[in-house]
Amino acid sequence: MAPSLYIDGDWVKPESGATFPTFDPATEEQIAEVSVAGAPEVDAAVAAARRAVRAPEWTRLAPAARAGLLFRLAALIDEHAEELAALETRDQGQPLGISREVSVAGAAEHFRYYAGWVTKLEGAVTPIGYPDTLHYTRREPVGVCALITPWNFPLMIAAWKLAPALATGNAVILKPAEQTPLTAIRLIELAERAGFPAGVVNLLTGDGVVGQALVDHPGVDKVSFTGSTEVGRKIVAGSAGNLKRVTLELGGKAPSIIAADADLDAAVAGNLAGSLLNSGQVCAAYSRFYVDRARADEFVTKLAEGGRNLRVGPGADERTQVGPLVSAAHLSKVEQMVTVGKVEGAELVTGGERAANPGYFFQPTVFAGVTDAMTIARQEIFGPVLPVLTYDGDDELHALIDRANDTEYGLAAAVWTRELATAHRLAAELRAGAVFVNMPPIPDAAAPWGGFKASGWGREMGRYALDAYTETKGVWIHHGGGGV
Ligand code: NAD
Repeated sequence: MAPSLYIDGDWVKPESGATFPTFDPATEEQIAEVSVAGAPEVDAAVAAARRAVRAPEWTRLAPAARAGLLFRLAALIDEHAEELAALETRDQGQPLGISREVSVAGAAEHFRYYAGWVTKLEGAVTPIGYPDTLHYTRREPVGVCALITPWNFPLMIAAWKLAPALATGNAVILKPAEQTPLTAIRLIELAERAGFPAGVVNLLTGDGVVGQALVDHPGVDKVSFTGSTEVGRKIVAGSAGNLKRVTLELGGKAPSIIAADADLDAAVAGNLAGSLLNSGQVCAAYSRFYVDRARADEFVTKLAEGGRNLRVGPGADERTQVGPLVSAAHLSKVEQMVTVGKVEGAELVTGGERAANPGYFFQPTVFAGVTDAMTIARQEIFGPVLPVLTYDGDDELHALIDRANDTEYGLAAAVWTRELATAHRLAAELRAGAVFVNMPPIPDAAAPWGGFKASGWGREMGRYALDAYTETKGVWIHHGGGGV
């Protein structure tokens, strides 16, 4: 395997020579050996980024030229779209259609979207009271940003962070998840071809130890992390040393409320899409369903039938709708959650088993008779497991909102209704960073993405990510006159 550490414009191997394997989750076969960055490489990457963030080749680049680099990277992603999609499917497992239309297209779109912002980053003139003084604001890069990403959408989430960080003039060190490093490596090769100055973009592969070393490093100014809430807490603790800026996109347990008046067939189709995309390995996946008791049997029957009819198989097979889970460890976690569901008394309606062997495939699984206290209604499963709960009638709406909000998470929520009043009321009262009405949870480069409560800190995407990657500086210029 070629070296996978990219530091100061060079591809290098770690001093230790350490590597880790990455596997195809559809076959369980090893695809590649990838380098593990050690302490010397972490230090070298941080030093390179520190130099680059102040180097004239980067700081004095005209905004249109900086935008041009991002546009060029987007074009290179488009040019290599089929290769990137196949690589994402091989390493992560997602169906090729998802790799193409969500992961690769989404990554290119992010670079294009933030390229557009580079030439529109404005400050403001402020109406201060001090006489004869001009006050204006400048938006300056935070500095050296460590970007730590998870395994569920490796390419797209890397783009979610890289695009706004680079658009605003930071230097970055990307640390992809150890389960799925391959598209991140390819993306950085493309960034090198796009022509970013040496040191502006760096890549360190390896596990959580590498991530923690970046979090603890005094030379890092900001950490942008997407991953589990548990690791998010470690990042907050580790960042305290130099009070790094921190953005966190963490776990979720999105409620989906199916009102009594909902178009049930549309709700079933939308909830299957919203819960089984990427085999449920989606932070915003709908993962607890509240249905009016009068319609619960019909909903459960149709949901289970829909789940059974989905084609489970290798992502590389164009007919596949549900691919494998990412790893053996994650498969066993999902299996354990299903066992806990059964032991705690939920009714298994369909699925509940591995779907094929070899490969980390798991059947779409529907549980009925789930209650609020059950583990499968409370903990993030991150798999194709759909717990259905019931509620009684419209006059219980207030109680239902409390039940939906009774969670440590607050990333996304869904509402299915034909009543405008119900849609607006629930949209206002659900404590989540995004509420989707009559649709699956689809992010967009232009719309804020992030969570309330333990689902995270800050927002990515849209103009919100520009705030996350800049510091606002106030400049006071006293220009004489009689007022001093
Ligand atoms: P994870 O937290 O185990 O790992 C994420 C990344 O953090 C990996 O790169 C890992 O190597 C690194 N890491 C691990 N320990 C670390 C430490 N101590 N310090 C620094 N970095 C460390 O998460 P995962 O299992 O890869 O991803 C699944 C989780 O990600 C789920 O909880 C999911 O909800 C969440 N997620 C959230 C969003 C969102 O936008 N909110 C999107 C995708 C995934």
